[in-house]
Amino acid sequence: MADPVVTRFAPSPTGFLHIGGARTALFNWLYARGRGGRFLLRIEDTDRARSTEAATQAIFDGLTWLGLDWDGEATSQAAHAARHAEVAQEMLANGHAYRCFSTQAEIEAFREAARAENRSTLFQSPWRDVSEAEHPDAPFAIRLRAPREGETVIEDRVQGRVVTRNDQLDDMVLLRSDGTPTYMLAVVVDDHDMGVTHVIRGDDHLVNAARQAQIYRAMGWAEPVWAHIPLIHGPDGKKLSKRHGALGVEEYAAMGFPAPALRNYLTRLGWSHGDDEFFTDAQAREWFDLDGIGRAPARLDLKKLEN
Ligand code: GLU
Repeated sequence: MADPVVTRFAPSPTGFLHIGGARTALFNWLYARGRGGRFLLRIEDTDRARSTEAATQAIFDGLTWLGLDWDGEATSQAAHAARHAEVAQEMLANGHAYRCFSTQAEIEAFREAARAENRSTLFQSPWRDVSEAEHPDAPFAIRLRAPREGETVIEDRVQGRVVTRNDQLDDMVLLRSDGTPTYMLAVVVDDHDMGVTHVIRGDDHLVNAARQAQIYRAMGWAEPVWAHIPLIHGPDGKKLSKRHGALGVEEYAAMGFPAPALRNYLTRLGWSHGDDEFFTDAQAREWFDLDGIGRAPARLDLKKLEN
């Protein structure tokens, strides 16, 4: 039997619950609930300066208002920092990462010179192949020893086969010199530790997927199924912005929209099931599938919601 489905919604608590985020949460919820799986909530608060309590509360309130319940307690990514550092150390020990002693000024100088000579500005650390014995006693970042040749291929359930040339990816930092994990490392470690089987999220994260796949592969961890959903656009086809109407879920609640109507509307924003326009919750859970997600950006058309 296939493993039980585990999905997650992983918002950064830096504002209200955006309508696009609500749709991502809904798709994850439908996918898990329709398959007897679990839907988890992880608050990505690693960016301490931008994360606020009020934003976390707005996410809880918005999801609850929409009727999207999560399994277990919501987790905080920042609370797992020690675990993230542990994995970076493990990668150092197994040779998939290395210590980089380059300072910010040296990295800048490298880029400056590369620009002047019309070369790629992707930083190539001089420490990649320097032996332990030659290491100075100085602060260092831990970088992934990324493959230099070939390609990193992602099989995405929405976007299809996504190929990234490895010479376009640098040896990303996993742990900064102050010991804090980068977002890229934190996401992968958390998804792995939480047993996430399907990563369903906005396609603004598609470029991160190749980098994240490199971490999974270096650790020998099973990769999740990737599904990157096109972002929502305005009725004019432009990137969704305030002039297109309300963007925060709490604004819809305040305007008196019934939650089931918004939910039905969001379900159909980028996903379709034949010509069906309305369905019950049970039908949505039963019918929702990644195959029904379109590759073109969905358009928010509030007139349809008002009818
Ligand atoms: N925290 C990210 C965001 O709010 C999402 C990360 C992910 O889904 O992997 O955009």
